[in-house]
Amino acid sequence: MFRNLSVLPRRFISLQEYQSKALMASYGVRVQHGSAVSNATEAAKVSADLAKTAPELVIKAQILAGGRGKGTFTDGFKGGVHLSKSATGAADLAKRMLNNTLVTQQTGPNGALVSKVLICEAVNIKHEAYFAILLDRTAQGTVLVGSPAGGMDIEHVAATTPEKVFTEVVDFRKGVTDEQANRMAERIGFGGNKELRDRAAVQIKSLYKLFLARDATMVEVNPLALTDTNEVVCVDAKMQFDDNASFRQKDLFSMHNPEQDDPREARAQAAGLNYVALDGNIGCLVNGAGLAMATMDVIALHGGKPANFLDVGGSASTEQVAEAFSILTSDKSVKAILVNVFGGIMRCDVIAQGVVEAARKLKLTVPLVVRLEGTNVELGKKILRDSGLRIVAADDLDDAAKKAVLSTKD
Ligand code: GDP
Ligand code: MG
Repeated sequence: MFRNLSVLPRRFISLQEYQSKALMASYGVRVQHGSAVSNATEAAKVSADLAKTAPELVIKAQILAGGRGKGTFTDGFKGGVHLSKSATGAADLAKRMLNNTLVTQQTGPNGALVSKVLICEAVNIKHEAYFAILLDRTAQGTVLVGSPAGGMDIEHVAATTPEKVFTEVVDFRKGVTDEQANRMAERIGFGGNKELRDRAAVQIKSLYKLFLARDATMVEVNPLALTDTNEVVCVDAKMQFDDNASFRQKDLFSMHNPEQDDPREARAQAAGLNYVALDGNIGCLVNGAGLAMATMDVIALHGGKPANFLDVGGSASTEQVAEAFSILTSDKSVKAILVNVFGGIMRCDVIAQGVVEAARKLKLTVPLVVRLEGTNVELGKKILRDSGLRIVAADDLDDAAKKAVLSTKD
């Protein structure tokens, strides 16, 4: 009955550009020299040091979103990426950006607070390419994606000129072959001569090494630039890492700033719940990752969209269930809640008690559909019945999903 519609949603962390670049440099990837600063004194010092050897500096707001160059600060100052030929000019630009809020196409209207600015030696750019390493579901593995049309929004390039986007599926047993790296280098604009092509291929292979060794889910370089001295430089860098690998990538995960997390996810994590925010309107509270995915599938089959993935696990306490419930209801887009529990180790009465406590405390206003099955199911159902809450009981998962979807359409 279940089609595989959902993939298990995963949490990941992103690094700031300056952190990604430091990591890249440690894998032999060519990035510009520079440092991140967080106040005027540091900005002046770093700018003066770099200006001793660099004729031009680049000043870049550090936020976890792209499109900074074309962004605007909330005080009207334009551009999160600037060039300056003087140390004092660079320091002034950094000062204008620090503690200012930058709005870009990717931040949403509220923008993102800039608490760090990266100051680097600038490079003269002859050509901007796009290059990324991603996990791709269709390819069931890692793919290289590149385009000679770099520096701009890749989604736009893919939509308007798909012939300019090239991919290579990586066989994980072999890694990126020389042939693949060379072909990609040529296709994205580094085929001028063998020396240049090889230089770009080395960058591509080094980025793959980093991707693999550090459990990345995405490495994106836009632009991968060709300079006037025919060097291949990663000018912009974005990286994401798989949360499941945090145990062996402690150094990367310790750089993570939880303030940038979705507040619902942060709350869930603090409560020991396995929660991922999604963009639908049916809040789901389920025990077990498999059942949670099946629930999302069946909601989708009935034309609905889940607001989250939430697995309360096999040993959740009443308090945890109540907290889970409270996270769901704090989400304004949630128009119905579906509780789907198959009690095994997790007892139905514990779930029911948690739901009732939370629903009372939170003065629940959205419809609540509950499907309970398994250990202590009768007791669970009795707790729900006796609670006086308006609960829509469901017989099975299909029935529950149908009722939940229907109730969002009222
Ligand atoms: P984004 O706007 O967030 O993607 O930030 P980027 O780091 O990609 O910078 C935006 C654009 O600024 C790039 O596409 C380049 O065209 C330009 N840029 C960035 N760094 C330099 C540099 O060192 N030299 C020159 N000439 N241009 C740069
Ligand atoms: Mg960029």
